[in-house]
Amino acid sequence: MKKLVVITGASSGIGESIARRLSSEGHPLLLLARRVERLTALNLPNTLCEAVDVTDKASFESAIAKAEAQFGAVDCLINNAGVMLLGQIDTQDSSEFQRMFDVNVMGLLNGIQAVLASMKARQTGTVINISSIAGFKTFANHAAYCGSKYAVHAITETVREEVAASDVRMITIAPGAVETELLSHTTSDEIKAGYDGWKQQMGGVLAPDDVARAVSFAYAQPQNVCIREIALAPTRQE
Ligand code: NDP
Repeated sequence: MKKLVVITGASSGIGESIARRLSSEGHPLLLLARRVERLTALNLPNTLCEAVDVTDKASFESAIAKAEAQFGAVDCLINNAGVMLLGQIDTQDSSEFQRMFDVNVMGLLNGIQAVLASMKARQTGTVINISSIAGFKTFANHAAYCGSKYAVHAITETVREEVAASDVRMITIAPGAVETELLSHTTSDEIKAGYDGWKQQMGGVLAPDDVARAVSFAYAQPQNVCIREIALAPTRQE
């Protein structure tokens, strides 16, 4: 039997595709998101679905304990949950900055803390953090989002230094534009229209499963091989 994988934000987009792919490869899964009905609707075998907001550390940890009682220790955590709220820095409501840092950064740190001590003690495990091309390249109207994704890169690199000797792998997957619900939460119609125009100019963007394949590839390497980072984007994205 393959080992337990935890996926945050599996109720849509990239997380949902990762869940489908890793399930088809035989992994038991713990799927987390706020919209639990969309997790259960995936109807994947050997899968526990829990309504967890990743900013709530206690419920994140108790969902992991419940899954471990059922399927054994977590072998891989995929920190995928994220929000992108684009806006002009001088007019954007600061609660949106807070939300991006809470989910994209604090949620990810909560996940790392929930699994790392056990991985270090067992001398094995993998944490895959979904960052973005916006985690190493800037874009207008993305100040807080880029800030949160640059943080994901910095956190992954730092933690890798701390856990390398314990044979725990820290991996960043950084996608370019992918067709998901991500943009829909931005409130400015003008910015949304500009983003849609940019996607059309490129002649289309990645599908969520393009990212899921990269995740699967990195995870499937032998434990002594750490694919530190994969950046993938539509070929026409500059
Ligand atoms: P979606 O909006 O389709 O999915 C986001 C997921 O995150 C949903 O499942 C949502 O579930 C979950 N989520 C949001 N907030 C929380 C929270 N507080 N607690 C738990 N889960 C939460 O977008 P994508 O699939 O595109 O995004 C997935 C990741 O990929 C994000 O980290 C994003 O930044 C990154 N990314 C996306 C790109 C793109 O172009 N689409 C490009 C580069 C990176 P629910 O609402 O049910 O809680």
